[in-house]
Amino acid sequence: MITKQGINVSPGVAIGPALVLDTEEYRIPRREIDATQVPTQIRTLDDALDASRQEVTELQLGATRRLGEKTAAIFAFHGEFIADQKLRAAVVKLIEEKRYTAAYAFEQVIRQQQRQFQSVTDPYLKERVRDLFDIQKRVLRHVLGRVREDIGKLTEPVIIVAHDISPSEAVSLDRERILGLAINVGGQTSHTAIIARMLGIPSVVALENITDDISGGETLIIDGTHGIVIANPEPEVIQRYRAQQREYREFISELRGLRDLPAETLDHTRVTLCANIELSEEAPAAIEAGAEGIGLYRTEFVFLAHKRLPTEEEQYEAFRAAVRSMGDRPIVFRTMDLGADKIPGPLDSEHDHNPVLGLRSLRYCMRDLNMFKTHLRALLRASGEGNALLMFPMITQLLELRQAKHILGDVMEDLDEEELPYRHDIPIGMMMETPAAAMMADAFVKEVSFISIGTNDLTQYTLAVDRANERVSHLYSPHNPAVLKLVREIMRAARQHDVPVSICGEMAGAPIYTQLLLGLGLREFSMAPKDIPEIKKVVRSTTLRRCKTIANKVLRFDAERQVLNYLRDELRKIVPETL
Ligand code: PEP
Ligand code: MG
Repeated sequence: MITKQGINVSPGVAIGPALVLDTEEYRIPRREIDATQVPTQIRTLDDALDASRQEVTELQLGATRRLGEKTAAIFAFHGEFIADQKLRAAVVKLIEEKRYTAAYAFEQVIRQQQRQFQSVTDPYLKERVRDLFDIQKRVLRHVLGRVREDIGKLTEPVIIVAHDISPSEAVSLDRERILGLAINVGGQTSHTAIIARMLGIPSVVALENITDDISGGETLIIDGTHGIVIANPEPEVIQRYRAQQREYREFISELRGLRDLPAETLDHTRVTLCANIELSEEAPAAIEAGAEGIGLYRTEFVFLAHKRLPTEEEQYEAFRAAVRSMGDRPIVFRTMDLGADKIPGPLDSEHDHNPVLGLRSLRYCMRDLNMFKTHLRALLRASGEGNALLMFPMITQLLELRQAKHILGDVMEDLDEEELPYRHDIPIGMMMETPAAAMMADAFVKEVSFISIGTNDLTQYTLAVDRANERVSHLYSPHNPAVLKLVREIMRAARQHDVPVSICGEMAGAPIYTQLLLGLGLREFSMAPKDIPEIKKVVRSTTLRRCKTIANKVLRFDAERQVLNYLRDELRKIVPETL
């Protein structure tokens, strides 16, 4: 029996035989051809590009049906890339001028592109490198006439063990036949992880060299909840995991049943659960998960999706689509929050030495008023189509809030003059995500209609820990007593001035914090859509009385560890399945 620990990316338990996939690394030797072979090599290239394009179109259609348009959009990028005449021209040039084989020439061109993508720090663009690997393998497979085991066409249920799974393999995963995944590389946000979660396939990644340790046919247990893989387990271990598997399945079907039930504590305190979304296409899935509104729409993703600044119309269309798909449910637009870990290539003209403390977010908008006004125009125009609210991020002092509101007022006047409709009484709020704002909450709450606590940044700035830096991730804890005291301070100020507060950091979607946050006075939570059912389950399993006792006790602790252990114990008492 071998036990390995990796990163848990998709919960649940799977037990079954392993299917180990080859690593599929093509070694393409540099080989020169003579002039007579040039036309044949170009034809081989064209045939491979055609066949690849066709495969991608089929994959895209299949993925749209099974996983929705957003996931299928990965293939729009693949399709456009393969069809790009500039790509073909660059490869043909190498075949003609350098007399490379089609395979070698194609590899050279794509490697060049990969290097370009790899040199950026933006995680969104970095993820595209993996798409390029996928495209590279697909086209080379055709050029070389090779096939890898097609995991879209399995006949037996198996657990896939692989170095990695390409995005196209990930979307072809068959929920019925693929019981689980054990992968050498990757992390929480890789395509494989996202899709495995969406399909509910228990998966563990970052297992380093699991492909070397396992042979095909060996029995594996995947504990996707705790990130553990066990090979050749003893019978009693299998039995234990079978019981765990049953419990987990019952828990999941119970969560599904909660969709139409209110998020209400046992002593009848009603809580509102909303979703955080990045793109308009996610709005229907949010409603499907039971979201009562959108508590945070990260508008900067519309900027990230374009390779240049999106025009007013492009922004307006994206925002309008989101508002419309929510009907009369509320949707909170946060003005664009670019910079720090979300830097789009075209806008990254100036380099900050320390981007997290640099020209990001609202500061960035204030530097480029034309861009900001265009953005606000698009947002306001979309607000006329439904129940939209607007908030500003990254505020540290009153003057910033006042200036932002002033600019918004100017934009409203412009729209009035042009007789363009918008929501005139749109509620204006702010994010509380810097310690400076939290400590001055009393002053801020007098000038806004609502606030939303962004614990991701609040934690980063309070603890002086870069939230995107893996090397200090062990120091990043939203349950640090200093962060919790700031949350308490915000809640006190909001209560005193009767200003509604919500919380939209990751903390809102983590069940371990739910009782504490309820006890601190929060009644509105906004989180990734997938987290809603579990949080609802916790809300429905506790009482407000209990939560208040928990919060009072936690606020007396002065060490993070104490907080975490205590919260874990308190959650275990009511919903042990979430741990
Ligand atoms: C936050 O900072 O908590 C937040 C919700 O905003 P973002 O994660 O987009 O910075
Ligand atoms: Mg933030």
